[in-house]
Amino acid sequence: MNSLFIVFHVILLASSVHLTNASYEYFKLALVWPTTFTRIRAPGRMMTNLPQHFTIHGLWPTNFSLPWPENCADEEPEYHFEEELMTATLQGVLNRDWPSLQPGKSNMEFWTDQWEKHGSCSAERFAQSKYFEEAVSITRKLDIDGELKKVGIIPHRTKTYSRIAIVNAIKKTNTRQFEPELLCFNDKGNVLLREIRMCFDADLDEIIPCPINKSAGVNLCKTKSNSIIIPV
Ligand code: 5GP
Repeated sequence: MNSLFIVFHVILLASSVHLTNASYEYFKLALVWPTTFTRIRAPGRMMTNLPQHFTIHGLWPTNFSLPWPENCADEEPEYHFEEELMTATLQGVLNRDWPSLQPGKSNMEFWTDQWEKHGSCSAERFAQSKYFEEAVSITRKLDIDGELKKVGIIPHRTKTYSRIAIVNAIKKTNTRQFEPELLCFNDKGNVLLREIRMCFDADLDEIIPCPINKSAGVNLCKTKSNSIIIPV
């Protein structure tokens, strides 16, 4: 009887630890426009061979209210990043879709950072390889570049587009027409598109509306902005 009691409590304890460490309610997928990112991080520096398509910044398990879970491997060491799990095939895909844009940071370092800070917090549902594969899969399904192109929104040095035109094109990526979050960067008077963020349910099955973003420092593109550049 006694040992049964102990086993019961051990199970209870283990499950409550998991619940607290890895609890999140939805995912946010952040896609970055590489040229804008480079203007922010390395102003004045000419970068060659920058991707001319949106690349993944991160896939973040998140809660509807703060705090968001972060750095979950600090408490659950089995969730630390394992380089051996990044097969050559997976790396090939990520080199294209999830490259590091930060000068001096390798792709592997960037994936490590993103996994440690974010992916480790959804590791119970999505183990490391699965997490990266899923991020690529939902990004490709969205095909933001394709949707923008369909309506004539093409990256250009000076051409401008309205926020609503960009939002309307991206709404077509999901049947329920949920809007993306658009982040802009003000570059010496020019408004550059910086990121597009979409939200997904906790199983990554469906797009959901992103909750109103109240985090400090987030530069959402102004609702009535008529002159957003997607720079080449
Ligand atoms: P930013 O200020 O660019 O929106 O975000 C800075 C960092 O905060 C991101 O790189 C990301 O790590 C984290 N972050 C921003 N928004 C969210 C969110 O909705 N959920 C989570 N989990 N992290 C976020």
